[in-house]
Amino acid sequence: MNLKIIIMKPRVNKEKCIGCGYCASVCPEVFELGEDGKSHVKEEADLEKNKNCIREAKEGCPVGAIEE
Ligand code: SF4
Repeated sequence: MNLKIIIMKPRVNKEKCIGCGYCASVCPEVFELGEDGKSHVKEEADLEKNKNCIREAKEGCPVGAIEE
């Protein structure tokens, strides 16, 4: 059987994000702070390659703004 692992693209809840920069520092290939001072997910992010740091960002976000 050919099982494919589907990795959900994370989302940043901008209502909650306080722009602390933690996610962008632990997982810079996926998260970056935008001009609005809030984090967002880069379009071209390689989710498979970065799955561990995505989890780290999600668990470490002080306000729980990263959702999957
Ligand atoms: Fe926003 Fe959370 Fe990232 Fe901090 S860690 S910039 S609060 S999403």
